[in-house]
Amino acid sequence: MPDTLQEEARRCPACNEPGILLNKRPAPRSAGMPQGTTVEMYECRNDRCPDYMPPMLAGTSTMVPGQRYRWAVQINPDGSIPPKGTGGSGPKSFSMPGATTMAAQRARDNLAMLAAQDEGNAGLAAEIAHDTRY
Ligand SMILES: [Zn+2]
Repeated sequence: MPDTLQEEARRCPACNEPGILLNKRPAPRSAGMPQGTTVEMYECRNDRCPDYMPPMLAGTSTMVPGQRYRWAVQINPDGSIPPKGTGGSGPKSFSMPGATTMAAQRARDNLAMLAAQDEGNAGLAAEIAHDTRY
């Protein structure tokens, strides 16, 4: 039986294993998505995932924590999910407004702001901001 769009969206774009739901929140208004849109954040817990970076020793004493691949799934107000993009190199599961549109710029500004607030925290917003920079 083929996956539903929802099941497919929850699979890791890199290794196709089902991800773990980290959080679910309304899409920021600045992202230019319809009101009522929800964004679910997933994390891949597969150690064999090509996008999983295991913890590393930097220098002699600093442990760099491992990084697991995270991605966002957009849920439209009616519960539907936009078709998946082309994974890590593409526009993810968001239907992206053009890179030069105001909506895109506002989204980048918003992420940059979140990333600044987020510093020293989990760094998740910084990670997203990094992912969306192109
Ligand atoms: Zn994965």
